[in-house]
Amino acid sequence: MTRIAFIGLGNMGGGMAANQAKAGHEVLAYDLSAAALERAVAAGCQAAGSAAAAVKDADAVITMLPAGQHVRAVYASEILPNTGPGALLIDCSTIDVESARAVAAQATEGGFRFADAPVSGGQAGAEAGTLAFMVGCAEADFPAVEALIGPMARAVIRAGDYGTGQAAKICNNMVLGASMIAVCEAFALAEKLGLDPERFFEIASKSSGQCWSLTSYCPWPGPVPAAPSNRNYEGGFATAMMLKDLKLAQEAAAKAGAATPLGAQAEGLYALFDRLGGGAQDFSGILELFRGSAPVK
Ligand code: NAD
Repeated sequence: MTRIAFIGLGNMGGGMAANQAKAGHEVLAYDLSAAALERAVAAGCQAAGSAAAAVKDADAVITMLPAGQHVRAVYASEILPNTGPGALLIDCSTIDVESARAVAAQATEGGFRFADAPVSGGQAGAEAGTLAFMVGCAEADFPAVEALIGPMARAVIRAGDYGTGQAAKICNNMVLGASMIAVCEAFALAEKLGLDPERFFEIASKSSGQCWSLTSYCPWPGPVPAAPSNRNYEGGFATAMMLKDLKLAQEAAAKAGAATPLGAQAEGLYALFDRLGGGAQDFSGILELFRGSAPVK
């Protein structure tokens, strides 16, 4: 049994911490939200009075926090000064590459093993223990990271050294954001040209336009029954979350001097859809923008 401190028990962290408790680990949980902490206790975790109290005597610390500033602050004031030597520290939040590398440097200077390990799979994957983890860590530490992540995962892939887990996450989501827009534009154009969208789906899914956004997550209702397009774009991956990841990709591209013009366009279009009221909708709801209608309420 491993003693795990779990900090950040929101939509994602709640299910992830519960799966660690289910796997038989002792989970000391902490969140600023009392309601989130209560849910974690109901799922088999123990409540800690603070992040500092949770990490004391922990073998491993997992964080699942909103953004880079939260991770930097919790590491600086709670985790690094209070965790026992040799503990394994894993940050699963989606944050900027620079913050991930800064925290990794502080952690390793303090004698800790560290991994940035953002996830793909959403709240449903967090609850089912079927998330995909993209890991940036020292090669020698990967077996321990993989073993600890196991109860929360269907796949754990090492991307490379510190920060590359975050790089993989934002590059992947930049492809996803841009490809979804391309698929939505094509459906809207097909409709305007008098081509039945379902027939277009049949043809494109067997032609060179085939991609995940089309065949696994079709934004047009009908062809892919499990896709959020069949439930008014509720649930799924919120536009606001996609926008966050596209902003991170643009910031990283600017700092690295990389040209990502399609990523920039995608960010602008999701920002517009968000301002029109689509922020809480699944990101495939952006189809409505190209069809010239307001977000589905
Ligand atoms: P969330 O807002 O539901 O949860 C974040 C939790 O962190 C909240 O409960 C909040 O109270 C807590 N928190 C904030 N500051 C804290 C502090 N100083 N100490 C303790 N707790 C603190 O967010 P979420 O949807 O669970 O997302 C978490 C991370 O996972 C984000 O980085 C997000 O980008 C990423 N992510 C989310 C999804 C998704 O579908 N929701 C998918 C993949 C990745």
